[in-house]
Amino acid sequence: MHNLILLGPPGAGKGTQAERISEIYGIPHLSTGDIFRDNLKRGTELGLKAKEYMDRGELVPDEVVIGIVRSRLAEPDCEKGFVLDGFPRTVAQADALKGMLAEMGKPIHHVLNIQVPDETVVERLTARRTCRSCGAVYHLRFNPPREEGKCDACGGELYVRDDDREETVRTRLEEYRAKTQPLIEYYRAEGLLRDIEGGASMEEVLSSIRKVLE
Ligand code: AMP
Repeated sequence: MHNLILLGPPGAGKGTQAERISEIYGIPHLSTGDIFRDNLKRGTELGLKAKEYMDRGELVPDEVVIGIVRSRLAEPDCEKGFVLDGFPRTVAQADALKGMLAEMGKPIHHVLNIQVPDETVVERLTARRTCRSCGAVYHLRFNPPREEGKCDACGGELYVRDDDREETVRTRLEEYRAKTQPLIEYYRAEGLLRDIEGGASMEEVLSSIRKVLE
């Protein structure tokens, strides 16, 4: 069984790696960002509340996020383990998580700290282009569309997501540095931190993670 936390700046590849870990080990992928985006798509009150913060690149208030994670972790599929992606992001969230897991009698096995330099983060996120119609994702340099501004798959218009704009990416990084980075020492002190070099290819990063888990 694996109870895992993925830590790292935006653009570190947490979502991509969490998806693979979820498939390989058969455990649910819990992404608070995905939960907010899904709520926004469905127009729920939670989605609209989160949008104010997300669009500015700021963190959603702790009390909102903590409640969501508490009920998600209590669902039966989390009995097999879980991979948390994008939570906790503050010390208050980490303390709350510790309390709820203790109540449920669940340990944290590893905190995977995916390390990438700031410049890589900005480069990865600002070069991302998303199709408005089908959601396909491109990278201007590493995976460009055949025709500029147009989706290869469906011909839809490519755009820059609001929170991928350079100003917003900078704010997301500042939020990370001020509020989330302290969790590295927090989990190191608990003996749970495993450093992963995240600047390599997706397959190489995955293989470093598998070495830690196996
Ligand atoms: P992500 O998809 O993980 O990059 O999250 C996108 C946005 O959702 C973040 O920039 C925050 O505004 C919000 N968000 C996601 N997870 C959290 C969290 N644990 N605490 C606060 N805000 C969050």
